[in-house]
Amino acid sequence: MTPDVTRLNARLAAAQPSATYRMIDRVAERKAAGVPLLSLSAGEPDFDTPQHVQDAAIAAIRAGHTRYTQVAGLRALREAVAAKFERENCIPTRWQDTIVCSGGKQVIYNALAATLNPGDEVIVPAPYWVSYPEMVQLCGAQAVKVSCTEANGFKLTPDDLARALTPRTRWLILNSPSNPTGAVYSANELRALAEVLLAHPRVLVLSDDIYEHLIFDGASFATMAQAEPRLAQRTLTMNGVSKAYAMTGWRIGYATGPQWLLQAMEKLQGQQTSGASSISQHAALAALSGPQDFVQHTRRVFERRRDAVVDSLNQARGLRCAGPSGAFYAFASCEGLIGRTSAGGRPLHTDEDVALALLDEAQVAVMQGSAFGLGPYLRIAYALDDVSLARACDAIKTFCARARA
Ligand code: GLU
Repeated sequence: MTPDVTRLNARLAAAQPSATYRMIDRVAERKAAGVPLLSLSAGEPDFDTPQHVQDAAIAAIRAGHTRYTQVAGLRALREAVAAKFERENCIPTRWQDTIVCSGGKQVIYNALAATLNPGDEVIVPAPYWVSYPEMVQLCGAQAVKVSCTEANGFKLTPDDLARALTPRTRWLILNSPSNPTGAVYSANELRALAEVLLAHPRVLVLSDDIYEHLIFDGASFATMAQAEPRLAQRTLTMNGVSKAYAMTGWRIGYATGPQWLLQAMEKLQGQQTSGASSISQHAALAALSGPQDFVQHTRRVFERRRDAVVDSLNQARGLRCAGPSGAFYAFASCEGLIGRTSAGGRPLHTDEDVALALLDEAQVAVMQGSAFGLGPYLRIAYALDDVSLARACDAIKTFCARARA
């Protein structure tokens, strides 16, 4: 084969594959081979989709809702999305001001692809979800990663933001509660960032609110378009049913934002995937417009698990973990293990070494923090039943205790 045949698109060739999916695939292969793994790697709820949502999907199939939908989503679902933004976020939204995509990822990618040009910059606070910088790269722009320290709760400060802004800045990506740290921005913290942004009218804000309902200790959720309405006309507020209703496999994300941006995203989607799955859209409609007790129930379960996991991880020699305020991730420093050797004889130079040794020697899958832009840390997803979670934490503690200098 001549090299020309295999030549890839240069932007794709320069992008990294999804680190989370690499681990998810690795776990699936080992499980298929019969290895008894406990996975704390994938960021997805372990609950079943609520019964009434399952029933709505089956009813949709039986009723023949199995054809193309409008590109931007079913009118009824867009009305439910608009009602959700009004009800839960106090963002005035007409159904025309919404779009439905095949997962939150497609919302984000479409928004970036619709707006970025070579030379543009996107501010990505680090630690970040693995896909933000790679999506920016795929769109031919430059991700400007801004380190947010643990001392600042892994959050972007107004000074950090002011320093990162340039005439080329096109977007700021915010994600609260955060994947991978669980950090939550208060309305006041968002307003302080907004003060800086108000002086930069060309900058758009992407608010990834996918973990909105997983917020602990009685704190209330805030999002930029609500906290600072003067930024609403340049904010894309993005969400989805994956995390709130345990619907990761249904692939439904949605957003509200300015008309010009939604229209551009719809144009792109119309030439790309068309509307999201018709069955999944009917399921999402049932999720958004039906009873919401599932959301409260899972929040309580995750809060209880957070307490148990953080407590347990802090007993592990070499790990240190502050309590996250939301999502279902603990982000633990593994600095105390770096430079040691695992009981199986593996040198632990990096957090990736720790994660791979844990996988091979303790049969526990976690993600290395460096994949999210900050090491040496481990991202531990506590989206697993209580008994398995306790066993996984015990296995981590044993692994740490056996690591030698
Ligand atoms: N958001 C999840 C995670 O971080 C799912 C995997 C992905 O799309 O990256 O684990």
